[in-house]
Order: sequence, then structure tokens, then C-alpha cells
Amino acid sequence: MSDASGGLILPLSVLTFAVQMVVYHGVGLWFEWCDRAGRLPAYKMRAVERMSYFELLPRVLFNQVFILLPAMVLVEVLGLAFVGAPQIGAVHFVLAMIAMGVGHDVVQYVAHRFVLHRPGLMRRLGHGVHHSTGASRAVSACYMGAPDFFLEIVLPYLLPLTLVGAGADVSFHLLVASLGAIGGLYEHSGYDFSARLPRDKTGLRGRFYALLRSFSTSKAHAEHHRRGNVSFSDGFGSPGICDSMFKTRWDLVGDRGEPRERPAESPRRRKQAA
Ligand SMILES: [Zn+2]
Ligand SMILES: [Zn+2]
Repeated sequence: MSDASGGLILPLSVLTFAVQMVVYHGVGLWFEWCDRAGRLPAYKMRAVERMSYFELLPRVLFNQVFILLPAMVLVEVLGLAFVGAPQIGAVHFVLAMIAMGVGHDVVQYVAHRFVLHRPGLMRRLGHGVHHSTGASRAVSACYMGAPDFFLEIVLPYLLPLTLVGAGADVSFHLLVASLGAIGGLYEHSGYDFSARLPRDKTGLRGRFYALLRSFSTSKAHAEHHRRGNVSFSDGFGSPGICDSMFKTRWDLVGDRGEPRERPAESPRRRKQAA
């Protein structure tokens, strides 16, 4: 969205927010249509969330409009992100994307495990609200108390963004914001698109499918909702570094919290056992 001279009409933070809203609510509505029309039943792994789309939506919109948007505008006004070079080089682009993934993993893990799940803080910060859902209706990805939304969604996005030096590269910012929205929706949709990938292959093909499953499954965050003590930042689109390092990945911990000897299968990690 630019004027005749090529400059942006909207501040980049606002444009990025607007595009993220279109992606979030567009893809969220598509998942909602799948739920209502009973589409893709082979991939729907969990019963549909008991709270309806319209029961979830107001809190989601409140968080996005009154917490995420002002925070994005603030970092632009302070010159911390969304400002600088209009374009970054290809290598910088790729490295910054990787750094965003790692940064998101670390910040979300610390905030989620050590603050939001701290006894006494869980309800006070509104994380109990999020855990009242079962990760089975896409739009519930942003259904949580305001402090929780700030710690679990806004901070893991904006803190790394201020460090990667992506300047005002429009395509970078739109890509990061859109991928983040899609990842969150998918993890909370109750759908798992890795469900039909072959499991009976061995050798190189077996390893290939195992790798594909590990990248496409939504199981990790579903297990976080089910058990509450695993996969604090591991999930779709996340490198899962902290959960692996601190041995809280869902496939490394048994149902009663005991460490498992080793993951069930695969070269990278087993998100898909059972
Ligand atoms: Zn969740
Ligand atoms: Zn949690």
C-alpha cells in the first residue's frame, strides 16, 4: 500500500498489523468453515472446541486491537523496528527469518514456562483462560487474558524483531506476521495435516516421511493444552530448541511427568507417536 512516490501511506507497523488481521481472520474463518461443514474429517484430531467461534472472537479482537497494535506502533515510534533500510539483502533476509524463529522460541519458552505457568500467576495473568480451551478451534489461538497475550504473543514477536535489523523491508515484515498468524491458527485448529503421511516406510523413505511429519504436525501444542507441563514453545514452525534443551518436549516426557528413555521414532523428533 504505497503512494505515487513509492512511500507507504500507512506506517509500516499498521500495514503489517492490517495484513496479519486479514490473514488471521481469513484463515481462521476457513478453519471454522471446515469445522462447521465437516470438511477434512481424516485430519481433525480432536473434538471441536466447546466454546463457539463468536464466544471466542471478542476477546481475540480485543487483544489484537488494544494490545498488539499499540505495541507494534510503539516500537516503530521508538525506532526499534519497522524503520530503516527499505530492503534487506537475501542473506540477511534468510538469517533474520531464522533468528526470528530462534528468538521466538526462547522468549516464548521463558515467558510461558517460568512466568505464565508459575503457580499463583497462571490465573492472575490470564493463562488459565487460554487453557480453558482445548486447542481445537483455530480462532482460539489468541483467546487469553491481556497480560498472557502480551507475554506469550506480543513479546516473543516484537523482542526478536527489534534485534534482527530487518529495517523497513515490507516483504520481510508481512511474511513474518503472516506466518506467525497461520502457525498459531493451525496449532489451535484441532487439525493435523501430517495424519495421513505414511508410517510404514523404512530406510530413506521412512526417514523422509518422519521428517515431513515432524515439520507439519500440530501435536506438540495440543499436548501442551492436554497436559500443561510439556512443549512450552515447541510446536508448528518452532525449532523447539528450549523444550529439547530442558527436556520438556512432549515426546520426551511421559503422561505422569516422568522422563522417557528416548523419543518414539524419527531422526529429528517424534511429534507423531500414537
Ligand atoms: Zn494454546
Ligand atoms: Zn500454557
